[in-house]
Amino acid sequence: MHRITVVGGGLAGLTAAITAAEAGVKVTVHEAHHTLGGRARTTEGPYQADEGPHALYTGGPHWTWLTQRDLVGPVTPVPAREAARLRLRHHGQLRRTPPFALLKLLRRGARDAPADTDFLSWATEQAGAEGARAAAHYSAVALFHHDPGILSAAFVQERLRRAARLPLEAHHPRGGWATLVDRMAARAWNLGVRMETLSRVDTLPTDTPVVVATSLPAARRLLRDDSLTWTGGRTALLDLALRGRRGDPFVLSDLDAPGWIQRTTAQDRTLAPAGEQLVQGQIPIAPHETRADGIARAEHLLDLAYDGWRERVTWRREALANGRTGAVDLPGTSWRDRPAVDRGDGVYLAGDQVAAPGVLCEVAFNSALTAVSLALGRHRSHRLDLKRA
Ligand SMILES: Cc1cc2nc3c(=O)[nH]c(=O)nc-3n(C[C@H](O)[C@H](O)[C@H](O)COP(=O)(O)OP(=O)(O)OC[C@H]3O[C@@H](n4cnc5c(N)ncnc54)[C@H](O)[C@@H]3O)c2cc1C
Repeated sequence: MHRITVVGGGLAGLTAAITAAEAGVKVTVHEAHHTLGGRARTTEGPYQADEGPHALYTGGPHWTWLTQRDLVGPVTPVPAREAARLRLRHHGQLRRTPPFALLKLLRRGARDAPADTDFLSWATEQAGAEGARAAAHYSAVALFHHDPGILSAAFVQERLRRAARLPLEAHHPRGGWATLVDRMAARAWNLGVRMETLSRVDTLPTDTPVVVATSLPAARRLLRDDSLTWTGGRTALLDLALRGRRGDPFVLSDLDAPGWIQRTTAQDRTLAPAGEQLVQGQIPIAPHETRADGIARAEHLLDLAYDGWRERVTWRREALANGRTGAVDLPGTSWRDRPAVDRGDGVYLAGDQVAAPGVLCEVAFNSALTAVSLALGRHRSHRLDLKRA
């Protein structure tokens, strides 16, 4: 194989491009936007905000892949004094320690949880109804769904364990995720990948294998294939810059309903000007709820824990992430049931809602590796067939 085309220049597209170029293939990436990165972009200017609170988990193969290539760059560990500022809302009160029943649940491995049962039923058997509900709400930090209890127990337990494991798996590239994108783009560039931005693809090329590394809805339109759907979450996002005040929590996790607020400057001072703090919140909302409902819940959480925050605001941004936070699996399904990577005729899907394992963006990485390996393998076996003929 001499050439491969990648549609989409987010994490999946860049991973596919680097992997194929490392195998000696000529790669062209088409990205519709004027910059690379997709959902891993970071705002430019005085406040460097990722699209919602974003953490890189260290436990999966994508972390090894990135670190082997020196692509993560400096990460920002959470200082111990800040880690001690984790707060949990439980029964309307702020507390510092998780309920015992939640800790009990964390001892159960992800493999102990069945895929064909909903998380709330399974977790209630393990730790009682109250612990199960608290755990479901905590897990929302890594799955962005308004009701994690109704999802597959295996799916939720894996995310719960990885989000709560000590030492913390969640890491943050210094300067935001855009720095990771820049490093990946530089690696691709050095390998000779041709990257065309402002280059929206409307019709797939037929003269090269193609990795479609867009969101699943964009892939559905591009491939004109209505079967390309999967369940996802809806999350209201609130970003704030606040004038600093000693004692603001580092994280506020809501155990009464799904919701997470994180002062991202606690782990990385460079994200806001001196004297200011960057605070990012994500509140998963139900299909009938509006962005305003989610923002109102975020503001209520802030009222509980961030004294006088309303008078301290220097910058504010709101958004709704609808189906942009990766796949969620309902009972009776697993990642294997999502849209397959191999679409036939030399077309392969990569992204965070396709059939690949992992948490959040790990699915995009893993599917990109599979897509390229299938594309290369298919070509090699085709050559063998020709030789035999
Ligand atoms: C609020 C929020 C919080 C998140 N938090 C985390 C977290 O903490 N940890 C984590 O691991 N993940 C997190 N994620 C998920 C992570 O951001 C995504 O999994 C990842 O960025 C997806 O990368 P991708 O390349 O698959 O897709 P995208 O980033 O969507 O990239 C697809 C690219 O394709 C381009 N494109 C689309 N159509 C075309 C076309 N026709 N032609 C050319 N280009 C096209 C788009 O412009 C885009 O740049 C979060 C996501 C959100 C929204």
